[in-house]
Amino acid sequence: MNKETTSTNNLTSDCDVLVIGGGPAGSTAAALLAERGYAVTLLEKAHHPRFHIGESLIPANLPLLEKLGVPDEIRAIGMEKWGAEFVSPWHDNKQVYEFAGAIDKSMPMAYQVRRSEFDEILIRNASRKNARVVEGCQVQDVAFLDGDSGVVVKASHDDGSIETVRARFILDASGRDTFLGNQFKAKKRNKKHNSAAIYGHFSGVDRHEGKAAGNITLYWFDHGWFWLIPLADGTTSIGVVVWPYYLKTRNKKPLALFLQETIAMCIPLSERLKNATLTSAVEATGNFSYQCDRSHGRNYLLLGDAYTFIDPVFSSGVLLAMKSAFVGADTVDQCLSHPKQAKAALKKFDKSMKVGPKEFSWFIYRITNPALRDLFMAPRNLFRVKEGVLSVLAGDVFGPTKISGPLRIFRFIYNVNSLFNVKRTFKAWKMRKYNIRQIDDSIIESPDPII
Ligand SMILES: Cc1cc2nc3c(=O)[nH]c(=O)nc-3n(C[C@H](O)[C@H](O)[C@H](O)COP(=O)(O)OP(=O)(O)OC[C@H]3O[C@@H](n4cnc5c(N)ncnc54)[C@H](O)[C@@H]3O)c2cc1C
Repeated sequence: MNKETTSTNNLTSDCDVLVIGGGPAGSTAAALLAERGYAVTLLEKAHHPRFHIGESLIPANLPLLEKLGVPDEIRAIGMEKWGAEFVSPWHDNKQVYEFAGAIDKSMPMAYQVRRSEFDEILIRNASRKNARVVEGCQVQDVAFLDGDSGVVVKASHDDGSIETVRARFILDASGRDTFLGNQFKAKKRNKKHNSAAIYGHFSGVDRHEGKAAGNITLYWFDHGWFWLIPLADGTTSIGVVVWPYYLKTRNKKPLALFLQETIAMCIPLSERLKNATLTSAVEATGNFSYQCDRSHGRNYLLLGDAYTFIDPVFSSGVLLAMKSAFVGADTVDQCLSHPKQAKAALKKFDKSMKVGPKEFSWFIYRITNPALRDLFMAPRNLFRVKEGVLSVLAGDVFGPTKISGPLRIFRFIYNVNSLFNVKRTFKAWKMRKYNIRQIDDSIIESPDPII
């Protein structure tokens, strides 16, 4: 049981597992562990519902939502997403990938969700399962006690009072704040990738007809790519992921204007936005890709974005966060109830944390390469390669579906294609190397001036 004592303004409590952050990773892990009878405290600095970017789910999310017991609530807020459409200025056709064509035909769809609603469903589910959920409470310090004695966490409430929590195990699910990653100085920039994003919500965006209405569309353009994500209430999320040097050209221009000017560079997207109105503040985020140099220690795990962030092009973030929470909950259970098995359980957790980033990153590093674009825009199902690629797009990367054979052949075809266009390949490689160079992020994230 959670134990609490109060003195003047401050609160001291004990629990088995403390979770930092109530996003998809933290709320999922808290619900699963509380369900197994552990005393769980989840501290979330914000109050739900709160805005979060990352609105496109992929099919492999759905079985996890089912296991959490929230599929009906998600269905009620979600826009059905049956596929992903790719539009390229260097190709005459549009290419639609329908998830139903993946190797495993049992996961044909996903949802687009407003994250304020989605994340609130998950955190309330954790409360319902008896986790102690405290919102408006920001973790400030984590002290690791000697041996296996656990941790002492200090957190501040919105009213200024301080809470001290002693826990046997801690899960860092603080997202891109990477609380423990920063404390340990374990967060490393991904030297192989670098991008930044600007995004906002619009009304009045043209939608496709019928089943395709909820598809995500990805538009390539000279400086990166755009997403168009239709949400259930008629709002559309539009964002652009660009090489950081491009965002630097914003200079002091308001973000909203800069986003509109960038959209104007992509004619097919502009056409869908000809009657659209911006309905939200426009935000930007830089320093995209990083990984912590460890995923765990004797009594802590790093979950979801608190461990690593790749790139949102395949809408994989929420799936990876929730998957890390499922594997993480099993790991904590093993460590606390069978300490002799802790080492093996932690090793297994570490291995699992690397699977998703590895599978997606191969495509992420090449998605702006002409050789990969050609293959994406004219897919063929030779030796089931299209089905294999679709399985990755569906997030079916954790097994047991056998994707490695088709993906190996796909990579072989990609390499042959690159060799046949050796000049173009070299030029693209050189350009990418230049584009991913590090720049000063403070310029990117500086908000619009308040008028
Ligand atoms: C531009 C962009 C586009 C994206 N698009 C997609 C997409 O289409 N599909 C997709 O699946 N993913 C997408 N993602 C990724 C996705 O948003 C994340 O991967 C996902 O939210 C990770 O979940 P999480 O629970 O690990 O972290 P978060 O969802 O970030 O949750 C972390 C929580 O921790 C809280 N917190 C932080 N620090 C503290 C503290 N010290 N004390 C208490 N609480 C704290 C925060 O308030 C937050 O609620 C996108 C990301 C970006 C940047």
